[in-house]
Amino acid sequence: MEGHDLSKVTVVDDPQLLQDKISAVRRAGPAKLQVIADFDATLTKYFVNGRRGQSSHGLLKQGNPEFDAKRQALYEYYHPLEFSPTIPIEEKTKLMEEWWGKTHNLLIEGGLTYDAIKESVASSAIAFREGVVELFELLEEKDIPVLIFSAGLADIIEEVLRQKLHRSFKNVKIVSNRMVFDDSGRLISFKGKLIHSLNKNEHALDMAGPVHEHLGEPNGIANDSASVKARTNVLLLGDHLGDLGMSDGLDYETRISVGFLNDNIENNLGSYRKAFDVVYLNDAPMWGVVNLASQLCSSEGV
Ligand SMILES: [Mg+2]
Repeated sequence: MEGHDLSKVTVVDDPQLLQDKISAVRRAGPAKLQVIADFDATLTKYFVNGRRGQSSHGLLKQGNPEFDAKRQALYEYYHPLEFSPTIPIEEKTKLMEEWWGKTHNLLIEGGLTYDAIKESVASSAIAFREGVVELFELLEEKDIPVLIFSAGLADIIEEVLRQKLHRSFKNVKIVSNRMVFDDSGRLISFKGKLIHSLNKNEHALDMAGPVHEHLGEPNGIANDSASVKARTNVLLLGDHLGDLGMSDGLDYETRISVGFLNDNIENNLGSYRKAFDVVYLNDAPMWGVVNLASQLCSSEGV
């Protein structure tokens, strides 16, 4: 971490408030802390090799060009609606349900296989921010759970973790749309309730399954979510204002929120600095969060 000068890309609107929150979390100790993180453009980089990196949804090639084109057409129709300032939120939520539902159906109809996911990830432009491995290692060592909460696809996120991190973390869990494959590795359905970009706040803990068990029923969910609910301090990582809703399902005591503002900084910094305790600009690495997390876990001087 030494040698990384993040001062130019770090914005803290209220340093005293942040300091008070850090002190409160440290006093309560690591046993009360959990991390809730968005995946795309939060754990992963916004730019990869100078170009916009791919998302967990965007990287998927289902091995059937006709269906890839159909999903792309849906993207072109619905993506502008997602950001339209004039559509009321109820209507927009229906549109997002429609979009995600149609996309999932195309994946089933088009015969997506688990092998196609592996190949898509292997050839994708997706990369973790520098310092993500160190962050997960620190949190694993301190027994702090990490919930990755995403409107993308759990099975793809798990494959990205497998291929890009080269080791697994038992403290990392995914809350996202989860696929069901048959014995030949073909997608047959989706599990549980649909998570789209506008309802990421409703069912935070209910769908969490362990990483690396995509074919099995997740075990120990009740215990996990009970223990997660007992962890009343939250370090939240996101890249959209909507990501702040990820902790809505929790009755938290102290929440420290970190926002990555990757693009369009002039227009968004005003709202981001009011909404997040810490804002990192310009697709910053994760070192500031590693540093923050290690402060939160340290009992020195508490
Ligand atoms: Mg994101």
